[in-house]
This record gives sequence, structure tokens and C-alpha cells, in this order.
Amino acid sequence: MTAVWGRAQQQDFRSRVRGCLLGGAIGDALGAGIEFESLDAIQGNHGPDGVTDYVTAYGRRGAVTDDTQMTLFTVEGLIRAQVRRDTGVWHPPTDIHRAYRRWATTQSEWGPDERRKDAGWLAREEWLYARRAPGNACLSGLSDDRMGTLEEPKNPGSKGCGTVMRSAPFGLLVGWEPQLVFQLAVECAAQTHGHPTGQLAAGAFAVIIHGLARGEALDGSVQHALALLGARPGHQETTDALQSALGAVRQGMPSPQRVEALGEGWTAEESLAIGVYCALVAEDVRHGLLLAVNHSGDSDSTGSICGNLLGVQHGETALPPAWIAELEGRATILQLADDFAMEMTQAPALHGPSGASPAWLDRYPAA
Ligand SMILES: [Mg+2]
Repeated sequence: MTAVWGRAQQQDFRSRVRGCLLGGAIGDALGAGIEFESLDAIQGNHGPDGVTDYVTAYGRRGAVTDDTQMTLFTVEGLIRAQVRRDTGVWHPPTDIHRAYRRWATTQSEWGPDERRKDAGWLAREEWLYARRAPGNACLSGLSDDRMGTLEEPKNPGSKGCGTVMRSAPFGLLVGWEPQLVFQLAVECAAQTHGHPTGQLAAGAFAVIIHGLARGEALDGSVQHALALLGARPGHQETTDALQSALGAVRQGMPSPQRVEALGEGWTAEESLAIGVYCALVAEDVRHGLLLAVNHSGDSDSTGSICGNLLGVQHGETALPPAWIAELEGRATILQLADDFAMEMTQAPALHGPSGASPAWLDRYPAA
């Protein structure tokens, strides 16, 4: 990013980054308590409209799950990739992999290891050391040091939604060309999932977020993602899912049945289709998020994906304040969002040839 950012531009970008991360976390938390329930069960337990507010999950209201945890580590990995560039090394997939390995540690350890100073601040956040129904492919793909690549992916054949639900932050690289955003998300998806759909759906999601972060409309961003998808072998399943989401918009009033016609969201392309559909038909953020979680399927992931989309599109001030107020990890999410925005817009003042902020390098070590 060499362009000089004006004040209004910086504030708009920061609001979209905050909106993307907070919105995703809110959607995740709304779905957390009903992830494994059918629509009938949800309506039986919570009334004909399903859930209309946070319900208790993991011992509290507003609890987030693996979707938010991993998304935060994606953000952290991207910041550290940029910081490490000063040392002459530029390979973001490696930094993302290291960040995901730190997330994997939070799933197996009781708490942070204070001796590991190179782990940075996010891995020192105690509240992240909690298992919230993490996906098997994400756990197994990150269980050893070998990084899955496009040539040799982890879990060949896996196309769970674990790739999509963590990939919104790639789209926040607004200074990058869309095809590079797409490629980075696809490469990083291969670290845990080997099926082309698991990878391409993550790339498509990142590109849609990217369009929104740059102020484009949602349908235009989806069309851009479809164009990029079309050039990739193995794209048909993901393309069909996105086309189904667009088609569902034209079929009439949104309903849980229309959402369920797109699938359950356990797979990458279904979670993307549901998240995109709900964002397209949302009357406002609240309406879109409740539509995205009240169905028989992976409610927290589809809520998270829809929340990333609506949050980056409309900015943090469009999110329901009461849901922000009760959200688990709000302080961490905001700090990371602001750090990301600072790194993207003001990096030379934080680290570079002319000097560095020791506090920044302690938070995001280049080593
Ligand atoms: Mg989850």
C-alpha cells in the first residue's frame, strides 16, 4: 500500500474492518446455541420465529466459536506477514500457517505459555483457550508442522466450511488485486482442506468481502467472484452454489425454507451460498443474521459468514449495539481490527527502515 490515505478514507476502512470482524462474531454467537438443531427443534425451543437474540451456549450468552477464533488468527497472520516483510521475507501463507498453528495450540492447551514471547499477544489471550466445536479437518490439518499446499494439501477430499468461515480477512487487503486475494485465500485453505470446492469457496468469499471493503455493491462483488471462479478447474460446484443463492433472491420473500433449499451449510459451497443469500436479502443487519442462523444446519458458520459480509458492507455502526455490548471477546476483536487497519494504512510509522515501535514488534514479532 503506497497510496496516502486521507482521514475520511482511513475512518471508513477502519469501520468496515471492525464491522467485518464484529459482525462475523455476532452471527457466530447467534448461531452458537443452535448449531446442531433442526429448524423444528429451534422453533420448538425458541418460538415460531426461532432465535431472535443470543441464547446460552458454552455457559454464557454471546459466546463465539471456532469460526471467530480462526478468523482472528487469520487477521493476526496477515499483520505478521507484513511486519516480517521488513526482514526481507514475503510469504503470507507461511505466516497464516503459523497463526493457525497458534490457534491449534489454543485447542489443546489449558492456557497461554508465558515463556513463548514470539507467540505475540493474541496467543496470550486466555479466553481463546476454549474448544467450541472446532472442525475435524481444521484440527487434523494443523496438528503437525507440515504446511498443506495446493500441490500437497492436507485432508484430500475435505470440503467442510472451515475454510470459508475463517477467510473474510483476506478480503480486507484492499490494496491488493482481487485475483491475488483469491489466490492467497485458496492457498491458505489447502492448509486444512484438499477438495477444490473447499478451497475455491474460500477464495470466492474473500473476493466478495474485498469488493465490499472497497465500497462496491454486494451483487457486483458476487459477479466478480463468479468471473474469477470460472477460470479455475473444479469450480462448478462453487459456481452453482453462488448461482443458486442469486436465483433464490428472485424467488420471493426470504424464509427459512428458501435458506434450506441452498443446503445446510456444513460444506464450503453451501455455507457460502447461505451467507451470501441472507446478506443479499437482508432488510437490515438484524434481519439478515437471524435468517442466516434459523435453519437446520451449521448455524454459527452461516451466521458468521453473513455477519462478515453485512459488517464490511455497512460498517460497525450498522450492527445492533446490544449484540455488540454482550459479545464475548469484544475488546480483543476491536483491538485486532484497529491494529489491522493501522498496519494497512500506517505501517511505515510502526516498522520499517527508519525505525520501529517496540510495542508493535512485541505484539507482532517478525521472528
Ligand atoms: Mg463454529
